[in-house]
Amino acid sequence: MSSTLQLAFLLGDGIGPEIVSAAVEVAKAALQMETIETEWQELPVGQIAIDEFGQAVPNQTLDVLEQVDGWILGPHDSASYPEPYLSQLNPSGSIRKHFDLFANIRPAKHFPETEALCPGTDLVIVRENTEGFYADRNTHQGTGEFMPTPDVAIAMGIITRQAVERIAHVGFQLAMQRRKKLTVVHKANVLKLTTGLFRDVCYEIAALYPEVTVDDFHIDAVTVHLLRRAPEFDVLVTENMFGDILSDMTGQLAGSLGIAPSINASANRAMAQAAHGSAPDIAGQGLANPIAMMLSTAMLLEWLSEQKQNPALLRAANLITESITQVVSAGTSTPDMGGSASTTEFASAVVSMILTKP
Ligand code: ATP
Repeated sequence: MSSTLQLAFLLGDGIGPEIVSAAVEVAKAALQMETIETEWQELPVGQIAIDEFGQAVPNQTLDVLEQVDGWILGPHDSASYPEPYLSQLNPSGSIRKHFDLFANIRPAKHFPETEALCPGTDLVIVRENTEGFYADRNTHQGTGEFMPTPDVAIAMGIITRQAVERIAHVGFQLAMQRRKKLTVVHKANVLKLTTGLFRDVCYEIAALYPEVTVDDFHIDAVTVHLLRRAPEFDVLVTENMFGDILSDMTGQLAGSLGIAPSINASANRAMAQAAHGSAPDIAGQGLANPIAMMLSTAMLLEWLSEQKQNPALLRAANLITESITQVVSAGTSTPDMGGSASTTEFASAVVSMILTKP
């Protein structure tokens, strides 16, 4: 294996090219500061891949992803794809499924001195990524959503002990590195068997982590508790769809959906991906906040640091996070955070901040 770090990036649709380019620029600066030799490859995905290869995720893209250490995926606007792509598994779903990226880690952290619905929020949603009620992910072939007649539509939800155990371990290990509090989110009063199994297996795993304080809430109730007192929450573990919905809300509670990062990980692979979508309403106007994509990239470097036992990668990740915080504290931000910087102006400010560090 080469000692050169191999990273890939996939621009995606909508605001994807703007925010992924900004994240790559910032990552290059941080890696350069830590003298980590890196090779970058750009790979097609989404609409441009449909145009050029007739596939939203071309086989060539998957082949390269098999070889690299990690990658950054831009958002996709799959709702605008023509048929047959519209009905197919969307790009991030199919990449997550292909690599069994079962853990979607979505932090929501308030930047000091910025406006937010819940200042002081510092929590992480740990979302199970492979099953639940997302019909595009919960079957081996085909999807868990089907129409027996034109007027009847049925969707399946699946929860398995094995999937809950592995996501619960991720949640508890994370809680051990943080404030040692974990909340299980479910709907076991109505979806008694499925989300009831999710809750019960999480409590079984809790016995292995006696230092972590555990509680649980129904998905509807937890939205109210988060609105009232988000800063009191630490790690929240939940199934696929609940986690997807909840993490958009927590991102906004912490300041903006545009600052909400994530990684999707298995035991040996990880993909950086902003928690938000392709925001077609603001695409191409320089209005997109690249912070979520930059922080997702920092999370990827942190994950790689642990995998490779390489502290320089963690320092590069911290350099990105600290520099973003300093740039925001100094008053530079994009319009969604109340500022007036464009996407590229913000990225340049972060790069300059990184390059001025001793
Ligand atoms: P998806 O279904 O892929 O999650 P969506 O259309 O439901 O996508 P988003 O694309 O995440 O949702 O956008 C929701 C709202 O948040 C939009 O009004 C969008 O402009 C805004 N938004 C999302 N990401 C950003 C960002 N990085 N910077 C600024 N605003 C953003």
